[in-house]
Amino acid sequence: MRRSLFFLALTGAGLGCHLERRAPVLPADLVLRGGAIYTMWPERPWAEAIAIREGHISYVGDDAGVLPYITASTRVVDLAGRMALPGFQDTHAHPLSGGLELGECNLYDAKTPAEVEGIIRAYAAANPDAAWIRGNGWQLPVFPGANPSRELLDRIVPTRPAFFYAADGHSGWANSAAFALAGITRETKDPPNGRIERDARTGEPSGTLRESAVALITQHLAPYTSEERLGAVRRALKEANRLGITSITDADAGPEYLTAYHALDARGELTARVTAALHSEVGPVEAEAVRLRGLREQYRRGSRLTVNTVKLYADGVLEARTAAVLAPYLDKPGDRGSLNYAPEDFTARIAAFDRDGFQIHVHGIGDRAIRETLDALQHAREVNGEKDRRPVIAHLELFEPSDIARFRELGVIASFQPYWAQADEYITQLTEPALGPARSRWLYPIGSMLRSGAIVVGGSDWTVSSLNPLDAIQVAITRRPLETPLGPAWIPEERVDLAPMLAAYTINAAYATHMERETGSLAPGKLGDLIVIDRNLFTLPVTEIHTARVVLTLLEGNPVWTDSTLMVP
Ligand SMILES: [Zn+2]
Repeated sequence: MRRSLFFLALTGAGLGCHLERRAPVLPADLVLRGGAIYTMWPERPWAEAIAIREGHISYVGDDAGVLPYITASTRVVDLAGRMALPGFQDTHAHPLSGGLELGECNLYDAKTPAEVEGIIRAYAAANPDAAWIRGNGWQLPVFPGANPSRELLDRIVPTRPAFFYAADGHSGWANSAAFALAGITRETKDPPNGRIERDARTGEPSGTLRESAVALITQHLAPYTSEERLGAVRRALKEANRLGITSITDADAGPEYLTAYHALDARGELTARVTAALHSEVGPVEAEAVRLRGLREQYRRGSRLTVNTVKLYADGVLEARTAAVLAPYLDKPGDRGSLNYAPEDFTARIAAFDRDGFQIHVHGIGDRAIRETLDALQHAREVNGEKDRRPVIAHLELFEPSDIARFRELGVIASFQPYWAQADEYITQLTEPALGPARSRWLYPIGSMLRSGAIVVGGSDWTVSSLNPLDAIQVAITRRPLETPLGPAWIPEERVDLAPMLAAYTINAAYATHMERETGSLAPGKLGDLIVIDRNLFTLPVTEIHTARVVLTLLEGNPVWTDSTLMVP
C-alpha cells in the first residue's frame, strides 16, 4: 500500500491519464506552446506545448502535436521559450494571519532598533484613531538578547497600548500601557509553556513575552471581524498567486479561519487550493477529538478547501531556548527546553487523532521534539495498524542524526522551511552559540534527508519568512543569503540540487496533501494548475534563481495572476 503510493507520488501521473490519452481530440480552451515545459511527469519530463480543456490538461507534448487541439475559440499563448511547470505548493504557511498582518505595522525589514522606531512612529502617526498600535515581524537579532524593552516602546508609543509579534510568532513585545491594561505586574506568574521576561534586578516585566505568555496581552486585543478575515485571505492568496503558488497549507487554522476559507470557497473566490490543518487545543484528548471531528464534518466538503489535518506543536523555538533538545543549551546549563505535552499525553493524542483518520502535522524543531514525534507516530502505527496516513513534521531544525532514517522507515514526510538554512544572525548569534559546532552540523539536514529516501517537501512558514518559493529554493541550493550568494556554503554537505527542490514544491507537496492524482505534475487528465516563469531555472545561475519572476499562474486553466509583460489574448 505504502509502496505503491510512494511510487505514484514520484511518478506523478494519476491512473486517469492512460484513459485520457486514448480519448478523442477535443478543442482546447487554452494552449501554451513554444515553451520549455518541465512537467514532473516521468513519461515526458520536458515538453513544448500543453492544452487545457474544462480545467484539465488534455495534451502534453511537442508543438506540432498540439495543433489539432486548437480551434477558433482556443486561446493560444506563445511562451517564447519561457519555462512552465506545475504550480508551486506551500506545505506550511499561515495565509489568513499573514493577510491580516499585511494590513498592520510591519517590522520584518527593520534591521536596527532605530529602523524599528522609525517604522512604528510613522505607523502610529498615520493611524491616529487606532485604539491599539499593533504589528508584527520584529526580528529577534535586532535586540540584545532577543529581548526588546518596554521602555523603548514607551518612548515611541507613550500613551496608547502597543503590541508587536516577533517575526517567528513565538515572542511578543508590548509597552507599559499594554502591560497595565492586561494587569501584568511583577507578581504575575509565568503561565504553563510561557515566560514573561523580567528585569534581572527588579523582577518587573521587561517588555518581552514568550510562547503562551503572549496571550496575556493578545487576549485584550479587539478580535478581527469576519469581513477583515475574508479580506485577509483574498490579500494573501493574491500574493501567493503572484509568486506562482496554487496550493497552500494553513498550518494552524482555528474555527474562524475555516469559516472564512469556506465562505470564499463557496463563492468560488479561493484562488488557490487550501488545506486547513486544524489548530488543536491542549485540553482533554477525548473532548478535543470530538470537537475536531465536528469541525471536519462541518467544513470538509469544499471544492478547493480540504479539512482533514490536525496540527500539534511539539515544542517552541531554538532562538528563545523553548525548543526541546536532547542535550542542554550551552548558555542555559541544565535546560533542555520543553515539550508542550508530556510524552504519554502527546502519544495518546496522536494515536487518537490518527485513529479518527486525521492526517497529523506536527511543529517539531529541537532534536528531542523530533524524536518524541517520531516515537508517537510509530506508536500510532503499531496500535492503529497499516493505513495511508502521510504524517508531516514541519520545521525540522536540529537533528540527532540517527533519527533521519526514521522518516522513510515510518513514512513521515519531512517539511523543511529551506529559507532558514543559511548562516544569518538567527543562526550565528542565537542558535550556534547555544549548540556548539558538533551539534550545529545537524541543523536543517535537507541533503541527508533526501539521500535517506524520505519524501521532502517545502514550505515558507510565511509570514515568518518569504512566501516566494524561489527564494527558499535558492537558499536550499546555495546555503547562502540571497544578498550575498557567493562564498562558502553553510554546512555544504546539506546543499541540494534544483530538481529535488522543484519536486519538493510540486509533486511531493501534492502527495503531502493527498492531491498527487490531481495536481503536482503536468500530465493528461490532471488539473490545469501551472505557472510560467520568465527564465528557465535550469539554465539560470543558481545565485539568480530568486530573481526569476512568475509571469502567469493558472488555476484549473484560469489565470489567477498575469504579469503585464506576458500577452495573454
Ligand atoms: Zn508555522
